[in-house]
Amino acid sequence: MLRHLTSKIKATGPISVAEYMREVLTNPVMGYYVQNDMLGPDGDFITSPEISQIFGELLGIWCLSEWIGAGKPSRFQLVEFGPGRGSLANDILRVFSQLRGALGGAAVSVHLVEVSPKLSQVQAQCLTGDQSQVSASEDEPVYRQGTSTTGLPISWYRNLDDVPRGFSIYLAHEFFDALPIHKFQGTEKGWREVMVDIDPDEPGKLRLVIVPAPTLASTQLIQADEKRRHVEVCPEGGVIVQRLANRIAEDGGAALIADYGHDGTKTDTFRGFKGHKLHDVLASPGSADLTADVDYSYLRRMAGATVACMGPVSQKDFLKNMGIDTRLQVLLRNCADPSTRAQLIQGYDMLTNPLKMGERFQFFTMLNHSRLTRPEQSKGGKKMAPVPKKGPAPLPVAGFSELGLS
Ligand code: SAH
Repeated sequence: MLRHLTSKIKATGPISVAEYMREVLTNPVMGYYVQNDMLGPDGDFITSPEISQIFGELLGIWCLSEWIGAGKPSRFQLVEFGPGRGSLANDILRVFSQLRGALGGAAVSVHLVEVSPKLSQVQAQCLTGDQSQVSASEDEPVYRQGTSTTGLPISWYRNLDDVPRGFSIYLAHEFFDALPIHKFQGTEKGWREVMVDIDPDEPGKLRLVIVPAPTLASTQLIQADEKRRHVEVCPEGGVIVQRLANRIAEDGGAALIADYGHDGTKTDTFRGFKGHKLHDVLASPGSADLTADVDYSYLRRMAGATVACMGPVSQKDFLKNMGIDTRLQVLLRNCADPSTRAQLIQGYDMLTNPLKMGERFQFFTMLNHSRLTRPEQSKGGKKMAPVPKKGPAPLPVAGFSELGLS
């Protein structure tokens, strides 16, 4: 990977941090995600769905609650971006199976957007057992298909554009933080882009440089009223959010984005992880995960008025609003094994403790506008503007307000 990057830089000059991240993480041959199964205790980092089953169960309830809030459409697509080892989807599908009655006869299908063939195999094993087939041709938009152990059809895609249209709940957990960011530095001469170059003192080493002239990105991606001196922008994340917003507005549904993030306040968050430890982002590229906190203010701006946005709220508040305390008590009541009990309590602490994942991890949702307004009153066949005091009040959006479950 280092050789590939240095020859690229020698040929065309310094590359943007975004291009560096894209190559390192998702190069089709050598990319970190393409080559590795990096999740879990033996990998480079661990995520909430891998820490506790309760996490996925509560997200399963969230999906059901949004489907009910949307008026229980007869077809329901669950779409997950970057499903990792498949644990989140697996816990959600178990909830769907246990609450089959609540889903009525809705036709539920599962759609996974995953760039890594290696991880798609791990996901297929987790979700279908051996019940999945790879497409005959590499160019097929659906590159793998199968049936979940609970009997639902599952399809794998590389891009959102290939996922069929229709009412969908979109989930992205620790996905947006893996998308390439551009980095910018405010200077006396204006905004300049930070790029990756070869270290002139050590030709086998890379370094970050501030390029002297403006780039297309530095002239296009910074807000006129930006107050920070160092800014990270993820245009690929912005494009995905815009596409999601259009789909949600036209087809109905909701998106739930959960990640390490901030609301337009942080500056330098680009970092690497290897073996659960921080790792220099430029050292031995391809051997470590690269990530940057998600800027929710940017995502909200990209969604615009097309959808209603809520959040970000902290993971602690989201999970407490979803009833994590009650769920933990139920699981503990039904579990006698001391080591499993200890694991459940430890997982709960890891997810909700403000000093662990409770505060820095944030939840954000985009909803079809109809989800938050009272149904329109019609008179003489004519549609009228929403009448505030008539019609049933919409259901609260689970997780973003207290549901009073305990
Ligand atoms: N959601 C999982 C995994 C997070 S790791 C969890 O929380 O455990 C990031 C995931 O996104 C991996 O599955 C990775 O292969 C996938 N991914 C990264 N970049 C992607 C891209 N550009 N398109 C599709 N999937 C991507």
